[in-house]
Amino acid sequence: MSASSFTVAFLVALSLTLAVRLWLAARQIAHVRAHRDATPAAFASRVDAASHRKAADYTVAKQRLGMLESVVDAGVLLAFTLWGGIAFLFQATEGPGVAPLVRDVLLLAAVALIGGLVALPFSWWRTFRIEERFGFNRTTLATWLADLAKGLAVGVALGVPLAFLVLWLMMSAGAYWWVAAWVAWMAFQLLILVLYPTVIAPLFNRFSPLPAGAARERIERLLERCGFRASGLFVMDGSRRSGHGNAYFTGFGRAKRVVFFDTLLARLAPEEIEAVLAHELGHFRLRHVVKRVIWSAVLSLALLALLAWLARAPWFYAGLGIPAADVSAAMARPGVALALFMLALPVFTFMLAPISSAYSRRHEFEADAFAAEHASAGALVAALIKLYEDNAATLTPDPIHSAFYDSHPPAAVRVARLGSLAPAGGGG
Ligand SMILES: [Zn+2]
Repeated sequence: MSASSFTVAFLVALSLTLAVRLWLAARQIAHVRAHRDATPAAFASRVDAASHRKAADYTVAKQRLGMLESVVDAGVLLAFTLWGGIAFLFQATEGPGVAPLVRDVLLLAAVALIGGLVALPFSWWRTFRIEERFGFNRTTLATWLADLAKGLAVGVALGVPLAFLVLWLMMSAGAYWWVAAWVAWMAFQLLILVLYPTVIAPLFNRFSPLPAGAARERIERLLERCGFRASGLFVMDGSRRSGHGNAYFTGFGRAKRVVFFDTLLARLAPEEIEAVLAHELGHFRLRHVVKRVIWSAVLSLALLALLAWLARAPWFYAGLGIPAADVSAAMARPGVALALFMLALPVFTFMLAPISSAYSRRHEFEADAFAAEHASAGALVAALIKLYEDNAATLTPDPIHSAFYDSHPPAAVRVARLGSLAPAGGGG
């Protein structure tokens, strides 16, 4: 391939990605607005008109910001590549007297820092404008800034050693460096799985054991019924930052934990909490978590092989903005290939998003069926409706937008499916 034809392919993929993003967002806005004043019949008895309108306005506000962010991101990507950003950072870190590995880590750190700085105003706007306006925000500027500093510290503590290791392997592990890098990457993922619940999450939130009571009793019975051993049931102070509610599983093997947001516990009846947990247990029992880990392992091996191939191709560098005279010097610096690859990859894979979304939605249906079997389908419907309301999630998404992005089935489809699983006469 020639450098110029790769540039054309990159520009086509970038334009297509941006156009599809904007088109889907515009569709979602139009669809949600068209249904703003009519709660779907299946929900009319439980979701009042004001909540339905609030969800519509919230969805539109988030989509609009997302559209602006898509345009800015496309501009940043062009600035890094064709407008010479990486070429500049390559030159700036090329000076003598600095170890090759350090130069490349500096290059990657600069790319990450610039990307983070561009995302910052959007994050601020989302929290202090959109979440605030709809009454969800409970964080203060001080907490937000502290989170930012902690996030940066965690990113440096984990990212810098990983970058050193991968770059070192790229430089010195021979033609099959990508296999070694894959092993390192898998080990890193495993490390995060162990560190997240025990070290990282507690930096941001307080976790306390789930207090005794009706909810705890039901949960313990459910775990026993499903043959599950979790080493802990925890409540997280999610309300410190946001009114949104959630529950999740973390850890693996014997170190599994179940974490409930305090906002969720405050809102759901014990029977509904049990149903939500049964759904989460379904993901584990049906091996969704393992399947996902295997998929991501296969995918990352394929991507590393692709990177290894591209890193040896001069057109890859020249096609993404490295001046012809610098290409051979850039090829001696694995950090350049890594930075260009991580930046350019998403525009070539964006159109595959519907495949992974559909796969994820299938798992959601299976986990719902598991919950209907081991707890109450009616209680899960009741819990879901409260969660949709508390998160101001739209009940009327655009079907194409939903098929493209949504990891969970649209509310109406999901509730109808659960309704058909509920025992006759029971549930809702
Ligand atoms: Zn799920």
